[in-house]
Amino acid sequence: MAVVGVLALQGSFNEHIAVLRRLGVKGVEIKKPEQLDNVASLIIPGGESTTMAKLAQYHNLFPALREFVKMGKPVWGTCAGLIFLANKATGQKIGGQELIGGLDCTVHRNFFGSQIQSFETELSVPELASKEGGPETFRGVFIRAPAILEVGPEVQVLADYTVPTNKVLDSNSAVEMREEKNWSEEKVIVAVRQGNLLATAFHPELTADSRWHSYFLKMASNVLEEASSSIVAVGGVDLSLNKQPKNDLPIFQ
Ligand code: GLN
Repeated sequence: MAVVGVLALQGSFNEHIAVLRRLGVKGVEIKKPEQLDNVASLIIPGGESTTMAKLAQYHNLFPALREFVKMGKPVWGTCAGLIFLANKATGQKIGGQELIGGLDCTVHRNFFGSQIQSFETELSVPELASKEGGPETFRGVFIRAPAILEVGPEVQVLADYTVPTNKVLDSNSAVEMREEKNWSEEKVIVAVRQGNLLATAFHPELTADSRWHSYFLKMASNVLEEASSSIVAVGGVDLSLNKQPKNDLPIFQ
């Protein structure tokens, strides 16, 4: 059975583990750097990125997380997890906050405004539907959500969202961004993939639709397969890590 690590410092890690369980996959809580050695892929959940960053610093997790991303291991960041993966984050209170990086994009931390401006919407998800079947749309749950404003050439856009004019006017962040960057587009990016990295601005773990989770699992096994075949070719270390875990890890039941 595949084992997926879920960063379990704060936020919706239990919900991710529950979806993985529904798909027959064990989600392993990651709270310490050495626990990353036991998993081949990782989900970074949504929550509160400042709190999560403080806890990650306290547990000295950043170097190990950066190494995990750099080694090409599959990582999926949802919401606050997306903020962590972004190479550049803007917006209120982001200054000085430590990030993991690796995903070539600029993310605006609280793009849609505060908690009360949280919303749900049907997103068009052609790539997800073509790989996983099912409807062409996905229910996006946006909770004090970030948005991706710019992506690099290696980044594949999997979903975007046309911001209604009233939302732009309601959101201080959006207005601030518009003024700062002369941003006039009404479309923002809310799901992307870049090689081993997947990121969504919304919360698929809070819906009954498990297609993003199964998309990530397939993506992860393809990435790991490619990595281990190229590594075998050069006679290096086995990246697949589908071995026995080194020690017992808490598994959410
Ligand atoms: N914008 C939030 C933050 O900065 C993230 C919100 C979420 O993960 N639901 O932490």
